[in-house]
Amino acid sequence: MSETKDALTGLDRYEEFLKKLEIEIEKMEKGEMEGYRIAIIYTDIKHFKYINDTYGYQRGDALLKEFVHLTTNGNDHMLCAARVYSDNIVMAVCLEDKYSNNDFRDFIHSENLRLEEALREKYLDRRLRLCTGISIISNDDRRMDAETSVSNANLARKVAKELDEECCVLFDRQMMEGIKKEVEITSYISTAIEKGEFKVFYQPKIGTTSLKVIGAEALIRWQKPDGKFVYPDEFIPVIERSGQIVEVDYFVYREVFKFIAQRLKENKEVVPVSMNVSRVHLNKMGILDYVKSLFEEYKIPANLVEFELTESIYINNTEKALQLVEGLHAMGTKVSMDDFGSGYSSLNLLSKLPIDVIKLDKVFLKEHNLKENDKIIISCVIEMARRLQITSLCEGVETLEQSDYLAQIGCEIQQGYYFSKPIPQREFEVFVNENYQSRALA
Ligand code: C2E
Ligand code: CA
Ligand code: CA
Repeated sequence: MSETKDALTGLDRYEEFLKKLEIEIEKMEKGEMEGYRIAIIYTDIKHFKYINDTYGYQRGDALLKEFVHLTTNGNDHMLCAARVYSDNIVMAVCLEDKYSNNDFRDFIHSENLRLEEALREKYLDRRLRLCTGISIISNDDRRMDAETSVSNANLARKVAKELDEECCVLFDRQMMEGIKKEVEITSYISTAIEKGEFKVFYQPKIGTTSLKVIGAEALIRWQKPDGKFVYPDEFIPVIERSGQIVEVDYFVYREVFKFIAQRLKENKEVVPVSMNVSRVHLNKMGILDYVKSLFEEYKIPANLVEFELTESIYINNTEKALQLVEGLHAMGTKVSMDDFGSGYSSLNLLSKLPIDVIKLDKVFLKEHNLKENDKIIISCVIEMARRLQITSLCEGVETLEQSDYLAQIGCEIQQGYYFSKPIPQREFEVFVNENYQSRALA
């Protein structure tokens, strides 16, 4: 086999492919490809590793060869093709101008479905799926080089891989904008922490019978130097993907411990504060040591902090979640199941997991006047929690009617804009001080 060919598939090596593609692009620019564009098709086989692990590498190799054979053999439109690495195959084809980009995407989509069927039959794996990203090079593009066009197609492939329904995605500029924004955020996070742009806000939790502040949830806020806020929904998913959420969560935990320690030192009233735990912590589990070190440093009683783990963490990763809950319990802190009911809640998990609080997701209270069906579900969940001796909390309480109804059915704690939005530490301190004054006067 020559040095320019991949031994397994017989396709070009990637470097060779780029050279050939560069030549095709030049031809197009010189007007030698009148009526045609170039389409880059970047495909990988989802669960290929699983096939290798289950059926052996020989079978994996055979599958790959067959895939290449089916897609390249007798393909008159093909300009060049290569195996980038492992099961990542890239191909450049010429695409007639009479077909739109979307037509072409639809065509590759149906081709993929056909190929999947053929390969599944032979390789007996129902999970086998092809994921494809496409980028189109046309003469309108200002000098598009080979490498960029492949990386655009690869980006579209990654998007396709995250989707359940679509196996084939066209690259577009917006995708690039999204990535640019992600890079902007991720490259600035550490500086933002250093510069003090992150602040911890506190949203009071109200005891249903006492109507007093009995706790708070710590929520991160990012205020840019121009005063504008970036909200968690905008940056948390991004820094979860990059893993930086761990650093940001630790920052929040430290601020909360510092705040509580300071109040205790000043002999002021203190209520327990809960902190959110991202799913990303389950990967490394350094969180337990970090929290332990905070307890050693700030010496605050364990019952003054709580941790919130979102429902999906428990469902997708029950073993690890259990380990985390047990580790936090061993330090004496409470743990809640956040966003209960937002996804596919598994009711039997509630009896299996040693959690202390369930926080009913705000979706249940989306209507200001509660619908009968929602009422039935909420009251059943609250009753179930009571019988399992788990504290119930409803979040997203926005109206007096909702709050009254929750009181009527015995929901113990309420949180929502009706009582207070998340507020800066100073304002929250006023909230707590007034709360205790009014109790003293009552
Ligand atoms: P979450 O943990 O479910 O937090 C509750 C969210 O509901 C907060 O949004 C809060 O401001 C909002 N909220 C509270 N009361 C009401 C209400 O009455 N009506 C409505 N419509 N919304 C209400 P926020 O602060 O924007 O946070 C969004 C999400 O970002 C949080 O959802 C949480 O998943 C995540 N998050 C926030 N701070 C942190 C953090 O420090 N660490 C981690 N890992 N995640 C965080
Ligand atoms: Ca929460
Ligand atoms: Ca929540």
